[in-house]
Formats: sequence, structure tokens, C-alpha cells
Amino acid sequence: MAEGLNPISDTPGFDTVLIANRGEIAARIQRACRELGLKTVAICSEADRQAPYGQTADTFLCVGPANAAKSYLNQNAILIAARLTGAGAIHPGYGFLSENAAFSQAVEDAGLVFIGPDARSISAMGDKIAAKRAMIEAGVPCVPGPDTALPEDAGTVERIANEIGYPVIIKAAGGGGGRGMRVVQEPALLHEAISLTREEAKQAFGSAALYMEKFLQHPRHIEIQVLCDTHGNAVWLGHRDCSMQRRHQKVVEEAPAPGIPADVIQPVGMACVEACRQIGYRGVGTFEFLFEDGKFYFIEMNTRLQVEHPVTEMTSGIDIVQAQIKAAQGKPLDLQQADVTCDGHSFECRINAEDPDSFLPSAGVVTDLVLPEGEGIRVDTHIHVGYRVSPYYDSLIAKLIVHAPTRAEAMVRMREALEGTHVGGISTNLPLLRALFEDEAFAQGERDIHYLEQWLKERRAA
Ligand code: ADP
Repeated sequence: MAEGLNPISDTPGFDTVLIANRGEIAARIQRACRELGLKTVAICSEADRQAPYGQTADTFLCVGPANAAKSYLNQNAILIAARLTGAGAIHPGYGFLSENAAFSQAVEDAGLVFIGPDARSISAMGDKIAAKRAMIEAGVPCVPGPDTALPEDAGTVERIANEIGYPVIIKAAGGGGGRGMRVVQEPALLHEAISLTREEAKQAFGSAALYMEKFLQHPRHIEIQVLCDTHGNAVWLGHRDCSMQRRHQKVVEEAPAPGIPADVIQPVGMACVEACRQIGYRGVGTFEFLFEDGKFYFIEMNTRLQVEHPVTEMTSGIDIVQAQIKAAQGKPLDLQQADVTCDGHSFECRINAEDPDSFLPSAGVVTDLVLPEGEGIRVDTHIHVGYRVSPYYDSLIAKLIVHAPTRAEAMVRMREALEGTHVGGISTNLPLLRALFEDEAFAQGERDIHYLEQWLKERRAA
């Protein structure tokens, strides 16, 4: 290789990236790779052979049947696909294998680059008790409660709950996806809640380890995006508010989180960066917090790219996926914390193929498609007219993202963008999103994580 092309001697050089994912994120990652001059390998299951990003990839191959366990989660098939196509790196996207420590290790053992953190970081953050301990050490504020597993002894457990103060929440150390947790309102219900959660944790996550913390009653969900290279440099790229959730699933996200004074968020962002340095984290990641009464409480770290990364891209002007790939190439960060700014306001709406009333997934062929365009509007999607929305996977079919100078202007822009969006042939949650962007309380901002569910309940009753 000519001198100058690879300025760092230990740079893990790769010129082809296999994208081990599907849907909008597969298309998004492919775009970032192309813009960086990298070749791409798209993979699919038998149900996704028509995927448009397959046609635009340099190589497209099927790795297994529709069942994700046998395709998108099939580590061997994906590693073989990488070998066959000469890919030097694997980007896992989000979901599927993105937070699987064994896969990160297997990719590296195969002599390839995993575009994400190493297995050690994924495991450390996947165990919520270990993660909490690491965060406390780095000075990141956590929810009150011990950073150790709950003992079996009934008396000790009662004492811990009394010290925290009711209501408390029992959580599985290995939990995820909003499962493996139980709220306890009063002492009489404590032991039963613990044994039920322990049983569930054993079954679902293969570990009976539990921990206990204070249950916060009206928090907002606020998260901090970080970006780290392999040379000890780390920055945070601002914050997002993801409080609009249904069944712990995010529906609308925005950046920045409204109403948070800079002097309140600043030390939290810096503590996240410090935590990354201490654990030797590399690539992109998100620290999730509950925010209540002016205080931040860490709940977990996601060691991957997130669905809602575009709102931060819009306000920071930084292409997070490109930055993630460059970090995986061993390149030093080309920005410092002082270079990171937050310009204007951004919203993202997740458009799901689902019935807007029953929320049941809606599969079928897209017969009609109108997508909005214009200043400050971005659509991340993989669908087109004739596309068959498959019943096998997540119902996310598009992300509608807007950016404007102020939150109020971004609301107006999103209303217009939603009006200008039409998906025919299948049901979507578009009517619901349109109504939410007309809601006055939502327009004021700073709603808590229960707001959307309450709003839906009131709508149904009306
Ligand atoms: P998972 O990994 O399953 O997503 P999290 O720890 O991120 O679990 O918690 C998921 C959701 O559960 C949070 O977004 C919040 O709504 C609720 N939750 C978790 N911990 C608490 C707590 N201490 N107090 C109140 N709500 C909580």
C-alpha cells in the first residue's frame, strides 16, 4: 500500500464491509460505507431477497431462511459469507447480533474487524450490575440502590428495600427488551416479586442474578450519545429525549432533550466520556438515563448504533455511522469536545407497519408510496412501491426525521412531513403520529415516559 494511505501502522485496513442486518439500517450503513469509498456486502434471508439495498451493494447474498435464528442471527453463516466475499469488516447494525459479545469475539478470531466494541465491553455493559458498578466508579449518577446482586437472605433483602424506600424495582442483571423487571409498591409484596422475577430471569436470561433500585415514578428517558476511537479519545455528541414510548418501545425521539440546562447535562456527558475511557470503550454507544426532578440516573448502556441516531446527526452535523466505521478502522477522532455543537432541533418519527388502533403488525405489499422532501427533511427507509412488508421481522418501515432552528419550528416541519407521507396497501401508525404532533401537551415538551400510553388511553376512551 502506498505511503500516506494508512497513516497509522496498526490500522486494521479493510475495504469491504459486510452489513449483517436488514431493513432501513442496512440501507443507512451501506450509504455511509459508499461515502467512505468502501465496498459493501449485503446479506438477506429468503424473505428479503427483494431488498433494494441488495441491488445497490457490490455483493448480495442469502444467508438462510426467513427465520432470523437461521439467517440474521446465524453467526457461522455470516462469517462464511464474509470469507466468501472478501469482506474485512462486519457491521452488525442494531438488534440481531449487535450486542452479542461472542459474535464480536468470533469476528475478531476470524481475523475480521467488528464495527462495534470488543467482546469485553459488550459483556461488561450487558451485565447491568457490572455496568452500574463501572458507572459509579466513573462518577456517572445511578438510580439509588446497591451495585451488587441481591442476596437470598430474606432479612437482608427487606433491609435493602427499606433503606432505598418504596416503591422499589427488582431487575434481572441480564435483562433486556423491557423484560425481567418488577415494581414493588409495599413491603408485603417484596418476597413474591423477587421469587417471580428470579424464576423469570433464570428462564429468559440464563442467570438468576437480580438487583434492586428505587422505582422512579415520573421520569423522562434521556440518553447521551458517545463516540470513541482506539487511541483513548472520547467525546459525547449531545443528548436525546426518548420519553415517547409504548410498552418500553420508543415511538418519537428528539434532540436536544428540551428544558435541560447546560450546566445540568454537562457534567453527566463528561462522566459518560470518562466511563468510556475507563472501560476502554471503542466506537459509538449510548448511555441511557432516567431524568426526574432535575437529576439524572443511569439505567443502562447500549453498546451499538441506535435507531434514533439521526436526530443527533441532524443537530451535531456529524455522520455517526461514518464516524463509527472510521473508529473501527483505527483512525483517531478528528474532533474534540469543543468542536461538538448543537444546532437547532430535530425530531424522528418511527413509521411502523401496524394497525394504529390494535398495534398488530400489518404485513403486505406497499401499493402506493409518497415520501416528503424538502429543507430539513430526511427519510431513512428501504421500502418502495411493490415492496412486501414481511411478517417475520420488526415492523419499522421508515424513519421520518426533521430539523429546524427551534423545537416549535421542528414540530411544524414534522406536521407537514407527516401530512406529506402516504403508504398504501398496508396499515401504518401514521394517523397516530399525526395526532400526537397536534397534541398541545406534547408540543410543550418535557413529558414523562408514561405520557404516550396515557394519551393513547384517553384517545381510546374519547
Ligand atoms: P431494558 O434493558 O430491558 O430496556 P432498562 O433498564 O433500560 O431495561 O429499563 C427499561 C425501562 O424500564 C426504562 O426505560 C423505564 O421505563 C423502566 N425503568 C427501568 N428502571 C427503572 C427505575 N429505576 N424506575 C422507573 N422506571 C424504570
